[in-house]
Amino acid sequence: MTTQADVIVIGSGGLGAATAFHLAKRGVKRVTLADKFDIGSQTSPRAAGMVSCVRKSELMINLIRLAAEKIKRFTEETGQPLDWVHSGSLKVARRKADAEVIESDIERGRLLGLDVEPVTSREAHRLNPFLESEGVVAVMRVGDDLYFDPSQVAVGFARGAAAHGATLIPHAAVRRVLIDNGQVTGVDTTQGTIRAPIVVDAAGAWTRQVAEASGIRVPLVPAAQQLFITEPVEGANPDLPMVRIMDAAVYMRPCQDGLLWGVYEEEPTFFDMDEFSPTFRIADLKLDAEILWRAAEDVKAQLPILLKAKVREHRGGIPTMTSDGHHIVGPVPGAEDYWAYSTS
Ligand SMILES: Cc1cc2nc3c(=O)[nH]c(=O)nc-3n(C[C@H](O)[C@H](O)[C@H](O)COP(=O)(O)OP(=O)(O)OC[C@H]3O[C@@H](n4cnc5c(N)ncnc54)[C@H](O)[C@@H]3O)c2cc1C
Repeated sequence: MTTQADVIVIGSGGLGAATAFHLAKRGVKRVTLADKFDIGSQTSPRAAGMVSCVRKSELMINLIRLAAEKIKRFTEETGQPLDWVHSGSLKVARRKADAEVIESDIERGRLLGLDVEPVTSREAHRLNPFLESEGVVAVMRVGDDLYFDPSQVAVGFARGAAAHGATLIPHAAVRRVLIDNGQVTGVDTTQGTIRAPIVVDAAGAWTRQVAEASGIRVPLVPAAQQLFITEPVEGANPDLPMVRIMDAAVYMRPCQDGLLWGVYEEEPTFFDMDEFSPTFRIADLKLDAEILWRAAEDVKAQLPILLKAKVREHRGGIPTMTSDGHHIVGPVPGAEDYWAYSTS
């Protein structure tokens, strides 16, 4: 196995694989991407793959717009396949307070050059016939939004990284980041020690656990999320705009002639990854379909299809959350050249 690298990236999900790809592409000679399991096999391929450009701050809008452009140029940039659809989306308010949020979203979005506009509930139904008008107070159409196949991204970035000379090491769990006098010197893995002056901790739900093994604190919490994919549904054309019902936090988009739908739970289950066995993988996560059925019941007047369409796949994962809703990206206090990447 490789024993020396210039940069070691821990974790080959979307974040780690993209980091390895961009480093290798920019000419870093010895990039090593190590993963405890198969490359790109944990939370990233189980996501919904929705890109929503309307955010609360200018920074986040600019970041997500950049991400949308990256998705569109993914194949050109990495040489790897990625299916994506520029479908746009409909953000739906059922309460006056959410209609006010939509108003300010439109104002902010327009200022920053997003393609956003209010549409009537009748127009929204015309754009996506699965969305009924009952109980709808306001709708915003977002032309910039798109969706992609999440199973292709991490693997694609990792293959792209390898094509630029990076070394991929699956089934090498990092037990500890080695730190000498406050300076990172490498990692201790189940396949041996790899020396490197820079380490990136992109271990997803395990990011904090990996850091804590070396006395470093990364303030994030892993939280469960799940979704359903239905059997084919007549009329579920790929270019139908995605739908989000704001107060219920329910989302729906087309997927393989059917629909993919889920809910951002208001009170998700948080995990301490130390409570799982070391062999636990995301496929072992216990899912709770009741949560999704309750959400479907809540929005049955607007999206009656959710209760009717037969479920083909139930999947979930453990993304991370931060207390301020911002991503963690950058050097970590407590050790030189220890970087942590995590989503919010
Ligand atoms: C149901 C659901 C829907 C979602 N929908 C969306 C969406 O629409 N849009 C969006 O932007 N996001 C969405 N997300 C969130 C998104 O999936 C995550 O933010 C993203 O996948 C996190 O990527 P990651 O690289 O941090 O984690 P992961 O993909 O989990 O990768 C982390 C990797 O680190 C490895 N690892 C862990 N510990 C070690 C170790 N000790 N040594 C070596 N390797 C290790 C793991 O094996 C894993 O491969 C959704 C998530 C879920 C579950």
